Amino acid sequence: MSLPRIRDRIARAAERAGRAPEAITLIAVSKTQPLDRVIDVLDQGHRAFGENRVQEARSKWPALREKYGPVELHLLGPLQSNKIGKALELFDAIHSLDREKLASRIATAAQEVGRCPKLFVQVNTGREAQKAGVDPGEIDGFLKACRSVYDLPVAGLMVIPPADADPAPHFAMLREMAERNGIEGLSMGMSDDFETAIAEGATHLRVGSAIFGARQASG
Ligand SMILES: *Cc1c(COP(=O)(O)O)cnc(C)c1O
Repeated sequence: MSLPRIRDRIARAAERAGRAPEAITLIAVSKTQPLDRVIDVLDQGHRAFGENRVQEARSKWPALREKYGPVELHLLGPLQSNKIGKALELFDAIHSLDREKLASRIATAAQEVGRCPKLFVQVNTGREAQKAGVDPGEIDGFLKACRSVYDLPVAGLMVIPPADADPAPHFAMLREMAERNGIEGLSMGMSDDFETAIAEGATHLRVGSAIFGARQASG
């Protein structure tokens, strides 16, 4: 696969859904990829990337930003409390907000550094024990707390559907939760299901291996 081919598939899926492709952000997920592949995608003009780990992103992106100019960076993986300060310096968006303690600490740190990334709340639509995310039954209350208690604007919701399930109902569930809470962003759709996600209203696709090729290590 390659970037032009993915862009083409996104454009066609958007057309089928009667949506504007410009309303869909493609996040190229570069975690654990060799640097030459990342540079190749930068050289093709792409400027939105996703990483799973704060530390890995810190070792890679400041130098690349120096060379290539502004790059929109998205944190997709879990955020530990002790890395919040560094995450706020580096990332333009965090897709893994999933508990009040984290909301509280992000709010405090954002005050200190004077900037707050766009926040996506991760929802565990499949109620999987091993997976992060707010329980679907608690999402309305959680969003309310983010807004009223911590004064945090929530830009969107994020989901990783169960691996062996049809993703469409999970994407639809996320969209319904967003709609009833007045939230516009929908971070959903990966290499294997981004066209389905577009049909269900995705605004942010997180696509890794379909752009870069298979990852070298797990992450
Ligand atoms: C790795 C990862 C992706 C990209 O997965 P691919 O299947 O390679 O497209 C998307 N979202 C999250 C949260 C990830 O960790």
